[in-house]
Amino acid sequence: MTKVIRTISNDILVENICFIPTMGSLHNGHLSLVDLGKKTNLKTLVSIFLNRRQFNDIKDFENYPNQLDSDVQKLYDRGVDYIFVPEEDYIYPSSGIETVSPNEIGRVLEGYSRPGHFEGVLTVVKRLFDLIQPSYSVFGKKDAQQLFLIKNMIREFNLNIQIIEGDIVRDKNGLALSSRNNHLSSTAKLKASCIFDSLLKTAESISSNKDYEEAIKEGSKNFVKNEIVLDYLELVDTENFKSPSKYSKKLKLLIAAYVENIRLIDNVDIEL
Ligand code: AMP
Repeated sequence: MTKVIRTISNDILVENICFIPTMGSLHNGHLSLVDLGKKTNLKTLVSIFLNRRQFNDIKDFENYPNQLDSDVQKLYDRGVDYIFVPEEDYIYPSSGIETVSPNEIGRVLEGYSRPGHFEGVLTVVKRLFDLIQPSYSVFGKKDAQQLFLIKNMIREFNLNIQIIEGDIVRDKNGLALSSRNNHLSSTAKLKASCIFDSLLKTAESISSNKDYEEAIKEGSKNFVKNEIVLDYLELVDTENFKSPSKYSKKLKLLIAAYVENIRLIDNVDIEL
C-alpha cells in the first residue's frame, strides 16, 4: 500500500529504504529510476520536493512545472511504498542545516553556467539522506555531473549509501526526457531531437579521430545548423570529470543548449 507522507517518522527509519529523489513533474525517466529501486526489494521512497536552493534563476523556479496529483497517481500505479512530499520548512528549518559545497568539479560546466546550483543540489540531497537514512539511492545519468558530485559527497562524508545509476530515457526521436520538455512547442521538440543525433555523430568522430578539439569544433556546427544555441559542448574523463588525458579510456561528451530559450542538457558515453 502506497503512503503519502509529509515527514519521516521512526517507523520509516527502522526500514531498509531505497530512496529516489525527484522534483516532481514525473516522466518515464523518473519512473525508470523507480523501477530500478524496486529491484532492490527494499521499501521504495520517492521524494517530490522542488528545491528552490538549486535554482540560480528564480524565474526558472517559478515556471517549473507542477503536477502533484498526476505525480502521486503515477507513483501509486508503480507500487511505490512511500511518496514523501515535504513542506519547505521541514527540509530547511530556520537553523541547523549544513550547507554542502561541491569540490572544484562543481564550478565547471553546469556549475559555471549556473552559479550556486550544485551547492543547492548537494545541500538538499545531504539533508534528505540525513532525514531518510536510506541504504540505497537511485539517480539518473542524465544529470551526469550531479551524479559525479553526489558520489563524491558520499565518499567525503563516509555515508553508508549505495548509489544505483539509471540510464537516460529518451523519447522516440532521441530527446532525453526532462520535466522542462513540457515547455517546448512541437517545433522546438523536433529541433531539440537533433541534440542526441549530433551528440552521437560527434562521439563517433571523437572515437575514430582522436583530435578531440577538432571533432568538437566540427560537431558544434551541427547544432548551430539546427538552430540550437550551445552553452557548452565538452568532453571529460568519466573517472574524474576533468579534460581527458592520453590515458583516458572512458569519456563523456556533455552538452547544455537552448532551444527556443529552454535550457536542455544531455550526454553520451564514449569508450576508447
Ligand atoms: P529531477 O526531478 O529533474 O531532479 O530528476 C530526478 C532524477 O531523475 C535525477 O536523478 C535525474 O537524473 C533523473 N532523470 C531525469 N531525467 C531523466 C531521464 N530522461 N532518464 C533517466 N533519469 C532521469
